[in-house]
Amino acid sequence: MENHQLKIYNSLSGEKEIFKPILEGNVGMYVCGPTVYSNVHMGNVRTFMSFDFIYRALTHLGYKVRYVRNITDAGHLTDDGDVNNDRFVKQSRLEKLEPMEIVQKYTVNFHDVLKLFNNLPPNIEPTATGHIIEQLELAKILIDKGLAYESNGSVYFDVLEYNRRGLNYGELSKRNIEELFANTRDLDGQGEKKNPQDFALWKKASPEHIMKWPSPWGEGFPGWHLECTAMSTKYLGDKFDIHGGGMDLKFPHHECEIAQGKGCNGTSPVNYWMHANMLTMNGQKMSKSTGNTILPMELITGENTFFEKGFHPSVIRFFFLQAHYRSVVDLSNEALLASEKGFNRMMEALKILNDYEGEGENSSFTLAEWKDKCYAALMDDFNSPILIAHLFDVVKLIFSIKDGKSHLSTSDTDELKHLMHAFVYDVLGLQQIEENANEKLDSTIQVLIELRNQARKAKNFELSDQIRDKLLEAGIQLKDSREGTTYTY
Ligand code: AMP
Ligand code: ZN
Repeated sequence: MENHQLKIYNSLSGEKEIFKPILEGNVGMYVCGPTVYSNVHMGNVRTFMSFDFIYRALTHLGYKVRYVRNITDAGHLTDDGDVNNDRFVKQSRLEKLEPMEIVQKYTVNFHDVLKLFNNLPPNIEPTATGHIIEQLELAKILIDKGLAYESNGSVYFDVLEYNRRGLNYGELSKRNIEELFANTRDLDGQGEKKNPQDFALWKKASPEHIMKWPSPWGEGFPGWHLECTAMSTKYLGDKFDIHGGGMDLKFPHHECEIAQGKGCNGTSPVNYWMHANMLTMNGQKMSKSTGNTILPMELITGENTFFEKGFHPSVIRFFFLQAHYRSVVDLSNEALLASEKGFNRMMEALKILNDYEGEGENSSFTLAEWKDKCYAALMDDFNSPILIAHLFDVVKLIFSIKDGKSHLSTSDTDELKHLMHAFVYDVLGLQQIEENANEKLDSTIQVLIELRNQARKAKNFELSDQIRDKLLEAGIQLKDSREGTTYTY
């Protein structure tokens, strides 16, 4: 690790750059979170997992990371741009639930799914609706600075004025402003905007609109881009180290965030822009709008029409991390089956290593060189596939030790155990698959039922009730009948 400097590919410069945090040893990282109006699909999971790996890697490299990932729970219009078609309101009509019930339902789903794939929670998880005041403040500042204007109860960012001041709208997505003006259709402005490229900071709500808040311009709701500027700068400062999200958020979302940040604070808000690449299925981007999606539980259980069987979340995680976060990954049966094989072999090797004590003073493997290569990969823009390839050198070594063809000294064995543990479990976030977990649980419950039966025979009803109640507390319900005791969990 000592021999390498961390390099990060910065989408803004289009180059790998040596990472220099604003505050030595600390990293402020903001990642755009989900829009919680529907279940997350595997494409969403891939992006959040990419940043979970990056968060884990930064932490392992010794940085103290403040990781902020928001929840978008308001202000997202449907693709037709109709102001009455707020995604949350539309979904709430469809499911006959309150918009905030929709938000709660899908936030819980999001958390459950990410936990299933062993993602660590962020340090702060702010919501858009919890930061309306901050967003209104930003809109007011931009109006005061002449970079935004009110029109018919809505507020728009003035892109032409921004560029007139030489601030360079389009710098992240490398889009040319003239081209943008030529190609834009005015979908959601309804003639209110000075220019079609101007984007909404605040939208006027119609009287029937449910999710709305008071503002100096009447009742309305915030534009999507503003929430991320409000929350990132509130928790990480006007300028912070890393901003992440999926590649598809580069434009307009992140471009608008840069414009808002520069407009408000006079400084570009982010030093390193990181974009994770897309998950495709059958060669097409996974996307809710085209219906080319698979949900996490469908992939895990195998209850779907695309895949032969189900795959463990750790196998899926391993499969994703076998590709670099900036490469496209295509989800296919063959690729998952191959990953499963590799994953199982690595986990088997780890078990063998665990039982190996090492022998003598010498090793038939240069551990220091291998360790150096692993850190070189990790610190070269978080190159997980190369890191995994190096881990497989050790897998090969372990099987050759098992066959008596190689050996490691006791001290190297200790260090290798420590390093493999760190790379596999802490950094890649993989988990051993508990084989027969259900079988083990079933036999444990049978033992407890037997003990309860004995207690009942001995008329020790206090104990037998206690066993039943404690099991119930753990989510296991016993049911007595003439045929015996059954259970559900
Ligand atoms: P959303 O909830 O639509 O805002 O999306 C949440 C995150 O998932 C964003 O960072 C998107 O860029 C990302 N995302 C959406 N579709 C895909 C995909 N097919 N592959 C990878 N990431 C995706
Ligand atoms: Zn965002």
